[in-house]
Amino acid sequence: MTAPIVIIGTGLAGYNLARELRKLDGQTPLLLITSDDGRSYSKPLLSTGFAMGKDADSLGQATAGAMAEQLNAEIRTHTRVTRLDPANRRVWIGNEPVPYRDLVLAWGAQPIRVPVEGDAQEAIFPINDLLDYARFRAAAQGRRRVLILGAGLIGCEFANDLLTGGYQVDVVAPSTQIMPGLLPVEAATAVQSGLQQLGARFHLGPVLQRLDHAADGLRAQLSDGQTLLCDLVVSAVGLRPRTELAAEAGLQVARGIVVDRRLQTSQPHIYALGDCAEVDGLSLLYVMPLMSGVRALAKTLCGNPTFVSYGPMPVTVKTPICPLVVSPPPAGASGSWTVEAQGQDVRALYLGSSGQLLGYALTGAATQERMALNKQLPPVLAELPQILSLKSSDRLSHES
Ligand SMILES: Cc1cc2nc3c(=O)[nH]c(=O)nc-3n(C[C@H](O)[C@H](O)[C@H](O)COP(=O)(O)OP(=O)(O)OC[C@H]3O[C@@H](n4cnc5c(N)ncnc54)[C@H](O)[C@@H]3O)c2cc1C
Repeated sequence: MTAPIVIIGTGLAGYNLARELRKLDGQTPLLLITSDDGRSYSKPLLSTGFAMGKDADSLGQATAGAMAEQLNAEIRTHTRVTRLDPANRRVWIGNEPVPYRDLVLAWGAQPIRVPVEGDAQEAIFPINDLLDYARFRAAAQGRRRVLILGAGLIGCEFANDLLTGGYQVDVVAPSTQIMPGLLPVEAATAVQSGLQQLGARFHLGPVLQRLDHAADGLRAQLSDGQTLLCDLVVSAVGLRPRTELAAEAGLQVARGIVVDRRLQTSQPHIYALGDCAEVDGLSLLYVMPLMSGVRALAKTLCGNPTFVSYGPMPVTVKTPICPLVVSPPPAGASGSWTVEAQGQDVRALYLGSSGQLLGYALTGAATQERMALNKQLPPVLAELPQILSLKSSDRLSHES
């Protein structure tokens, strides 16, 4: 029997790839393996659930069983892949070997944990999947005060969502502004003041040092000597692409699992997609790049090697109190921000040395300009002539 295409992970990367594959090929055996319950859901909605009054079950879109039927695939849930074995073209689940024709690593990124002292560690919640969200929703029931660690994009989205859902929110982050590295200070200030109008209290500069149970909830001690009272802590300090198993198997890794423009790792027949992948030096933990990868990789796996390309990749940040769209300039770009600000409406353009638009950050009413500006932005990963990928040996590589 032919070994299946094996996809590890049933997040947006794994499931969307399976869907795209099935559009091109209804029959090749397909096996998806996931350490979670395999429910299909849209991860970006996790930071909108309190405002929308949606718990984890209502954010789930389809069970693993329904997905297996829809995709004509086998789906193994609550199953963790523990080792890759490229030499023998198989993966290991504990002591069980699973052979593959082609393997796709779509196993995402894991929350970074910062060291915090104290006896209330169990009250610190990272929220990076539906099961995390279910645990947090259950713990938040009947509670009122949430401390958020991190003032990046995800921390700010959770602040907006929890405030709208009726919670009291404190945000603690070591940076001097919110979303550092992503936003010029004027845009950051506009979003921060919007969140403050909703009731958020920002503590920028210190980090959380200790978290202890106290008579009236939890006592959070910050590195600048402040003490805050809260009931729960959301940790939104960042994500790290999962690379350990790939590195152990000898695959090249950097920030993510290193792949070329066909999303192939340093080993033949092994590809990486989504949050775990570093494509041509870019580790972008967003949906748009992942979807471009899905379309290219499905073709490659069906015998038509295809390079991925990214157009402009603006991100809409879900802080409805102060709408924000940002298209960060490429890393290492030389240029500077030009900012026009009027209250909460900020139009910040990042211009290169010859005046060309390389990025932007728009808040409030200025977000209406995004479509027009997108047309002027250079692609994040320019198209390559597909002819370069059409060597016949490549075309047939999955058959060898
Ligand atoms: C709260 C939140 C809001 C977001 N909002 C936005 C947004 O508005 N716009 C945007 O573009 N992006 C947003 N993002 C980012 C976006 O959601 C992610 O880039 C995307 O969902 C990543 O999908 P993935 O499939 O690569 O990874 P994941 O969804 O993390 O899936 C990984 C899968 O791998 C499985 N797995 C892991 N290890 C193993 C193993 N060893 N064996 C078997 N299975 C394993 C997991 O169980 C899971 O099924 C948001 C992220 C978060 C956390």
